Amino acid sequence: MNEKTVIDAVHPQLFIAGQWRDAEGGRTLSVDDPSTGSTLVQVADASAADGAAALDAAVAAQAEWAASAPRDRGEILRTAFEMITERTDELAMLMTLEMGKPLSESKAEIAYGAEFFRWFSEEAVRISGRYSMAPNGKTRLLTLKQPVGPCLMITPWNFPLAMGTRKIGPAIAAGCTMVVKPAQQTPLTMLRLADLLKQAGLPDGVLNVVTTSSTGEVMGPLIEDPRLRKLTFTGSTGVGRKLIEQSAAGVLRVSMELGGNAPFVVFDDADIDAAVDGAMLAKMRNVGEACTAANRFIVHESVAEEFGTKLTEKMAAMTVGRGTDDGVQVGPLVDSTQRDKVADLVADAIAQGATVLTGGERPDTSQYGTDTYYPPTVLTNVSKDAEIWTEEIFGPVAPIYTFSDEQEGIDMANDTEFGLVAYAFTRDHARVVRVYEGLQTGMVGINQGVVSNPAAPFGGVKASGFGREGGAEGIEEYLETKYVGLAL
Ligand code: NAP
Repeated sequence: MNEKTVIDAVHPQLFIAGQWRDAEGGRTLSVDDPSTGSTLVQVADASAADGAAALDAAVAAQAEWAASAPRDRGEILRTAFEMITERTDELAMLMTLEMGKPLSESKAEIAYGAEFFRWFSEEAVRISGRYSMAPNGKTRLLTLKQPVGPCLMITPWNFPLAMGTRKIGPAIAAGCTMVVKPAQQTPLTMLRLADLLKQAGLPDGVLNVVTTSSTGEVMGPLIEDPRLRKLTFTGSTGVGRKLIEQSAAGVLRVSMELGGNAPFVVFDDADIDAAVDGAMLAKMRNVGEACTAANRFIVHESVAEEFGTKLTEKMAAMTVGRGTDDGVQVGPLVDSTQRDKVADLVADAIAQGATVLTGGERPDTSQYGTDTYYPPTVLTNVSKDAEIWTEEIFGPVAPIYTFSDEQEGIDMANDTEFGLVAYAFTRDHARVVRVYEGLQTGMVGINQGVVSNPAAPFGGVKASGFGREGGAEGIEEYLETKYVGLAL
């Protein structure tokens, strides 16, 4: 698919009250291709006044939207699901251009991201309450579910579509209106999505999209605006902590999908080939730039060598290059800051005694005109004193640590402030139960390297956040429960 056609299909403006409009003063910000460093397009750079206009539109649309028929809301989502799916090639190219990951990864995200619309199109018509007789028989107790109200959604750059649809889908299904702020590095997919939702029949004002480079200045007043009822954020734990504090003023409903430091535990009885396949998925999905990425490979000492050798073989065979090129499996990282962070973590691990099994050196990418690339890397003999033990890597680096008994493996997995997801490989059923019960995470993958599934509740504990996206739980984040006591 032609790169220019794909970019030209995007409205590079703010989407407010169903209209495309320029930012105050005509300000723009540039969106760059991380694989070449060149500018793809200029998009509107919103001011605080533009942000306020977006919230005005969401507030104005709320009452009518809350009263709309659930089936109608479901049909809009279903239509949008079909439209996204039909445009997989176009959207994948757009995503690869703004974010860098290979087209195969972008296509996988389109399928995953669209699925939230199909899932929540089916959930829209299942919102219900309860009815019961009070224990003393004198009154009747009713509970009903109502939309929370206008929501603010802040999303990161690593999954430009899915981190949005995971919030927009349930909000539409529940009858909430919203202001969405995509990451300034990757706003194009979200702008294209807004266009598709409009074409799918979403009423004006239900969804508003604001792109800005003045993130704090534009978001702060919205979070403190008493008309806002919910803040849902996906991003780093540091920013999440600030936003939790800010949302205390309005006592907002808050959902936080934050950072991870996922352990990938391989027990001595595991099927090692299956564990290596799972490791490749858990590590290399999205070039390692995923909150669910396996960050620490904790492998029983009796199988560590075999696991390391087989993982190294697969990692070393991966093709690095521009994400739009055929056969490329590992694209650039999102920018050189991210690449430097990954390189520094590896250098620190090596300084503390780690052995490089493959990778570990910046490739020569002068042909692309940018230095955002980092090769698939496997490290062994990694010390727990190295920073890489505690820091989220967000890149294609697999550090291997060893343990000698089951409890030590579980304790090492839990030795982190984060608690998003853990993976474990073992063939012993009793051990499986001990392991998933003992892991302090919101999600566990047993003998599988991917847990993300629109039909399941995604989310973390500890510093990885609170709230769940997807599954039956996902829509609850956008609903309030009201109780009515009815005297006879
Ligand atoms: P980030 O720096 O926290 O940014 C995330 C979003 O927050 C962006 O839209 C960013 O805007 C915005 N933001 C930054 N400062 C803000 C402020 N003061 N007020 C309001 N919004 C603000 O995170 P990132 O580097 O983009 O994403 C990587 C992180 O996200 C990783 O830690 C990863 O684990 C986490 N993540 C978690 C999940 C999950 O489901 N748990 C999923 C994906 C990613 P701008 O960048 O445009 O300024």
